[in-house]
This record gives sequence, structure tokens and C-alpha cells, in this order.
Amino acid sequence: MSRSVRDYIRSIHDFPHEGIIFRDVTTLFADARGFRMAVDQLLHGYAGARIDKVVGLEARGFILGGAVAHQLSTGFVPIRKKGKLPGTVISEAYQLEYGEAIMEIHDDALRPGERVLIVDDLLATGGTAAAAIKLCRRLQAEVVGCAFVVDLPELGGRKLLEGMDMPVHVLCEFE
Ligand code: IMP
Repeated sequence: MSRSVRDYIRSIHDFPHEGIIFRDVTTLFADARGFRMAVDQLLHGYAGARIDKVVGLEARGFILGGAVAHQLSTGFVPIRKKGKLPGTVISEAYQLEYGEAIMEIHDDALRPGERVLIVDDLLATGGTAAAAIKLCRRLQAEVVGCAFVVDLPELGGRKLLEGMDMPVHVLCEFE
């Protein structure tokens, strides 16, 4: 039987902390067929939709988002962790299990009314993607969807994003 996107993802136990199972997409990215399948399936959710820019979330969202942007012939915009972008930025803080994180976007990266697709490798609690949606909306862009290779449904990210009126497209789930 042919392999699905999920079959290419490696699970690493006790990373980055004991008791955590890390879903490692580098094995998916490293395989020519797996990577193409993932990018094609991310795009399937948006056939016929008008998208002006793809926004990728640091760091694995850059790899996927760059490929998706190329396929759609759109520009690519990075959302990065605090202090990494060189120009003038706007910031959004969000809660982590311990402490908080801050994501940033260049304040001139999106124009009002631009239609944006947000791409990342994995949706867990949804905190990172929710911050990204807020950043795009603060620049008055219209976020048409968020696309992920993996969803961890037990962590509730999908519900959080759908509660922000955001369509979510995922390729596979892990419990
Ligand atoms: P969230 O903000 O809790 O939804 O976490 C999602 C962010 O953390 C994404 O940017 C992911 O890349 C990263 N992340 C969390 N857990 C994993 C994992 O098991 N594998 C890969 N990335 C992960």
C-alpha cells in the first residue's frame, strides 16, 4: 500500500522534555515523494481561492510556506520569534505552558485587504497560529485559512482557531 503523509513523520520520545512525543517532520521533508505530497495536499484545500500572500511561521513553516507560495505564485512573508526580523515590527505575546512567547511580523509586510494563507508544520494548543492570525489582522489583511501538516487534536488548537472564525486545513492527526 502506498504511504500517506503521516507515514513519513517520525516520532521521537522524550523530546524536548521527558514524557513529550515530538512529531518530527524532517523525515517528511527529506523524502522527495513525501515532501511533494505534503505541499500538494496543503494546496488542495485552496483550489480556486484567491490568495495574495503566504505567511509562514518560524521555522518549519518557512520550508512549507515557501514551497506553497512558489506553487501559488504568491509572495512569502515570515512571522518570526521576537528579535529576529530586521525592520520595524509589530508583536503579539501568547502564553506557553511555562512563560510566554512573542511573535513578530514586519509592519509593512501585508497591505490592507490582502488575502493571506498561514502555513505551519504542526498545530498543538494553537497559541502560535492564533498570534499569527492576530498579527495579520492588525495589518488589516484577510486571513483566508490556516494550513498544517499535523494536528494534535487533544491540545485543542483547532477549536481555538475555529473560535476565531478561521477555517483550518490539516493533513493528518496524532493523538
Ligand atoms: P502551539 O502554539 O501549541 O500550537 O504549538 C505549535 C508550534 O510549536 C508550531 O510552530 C510547531 O512547529 C511547534 N511544535 C510543537 N510541538 C511540536 C512537535 O511535536 N513537532 C513539531 N513541532 C512542534
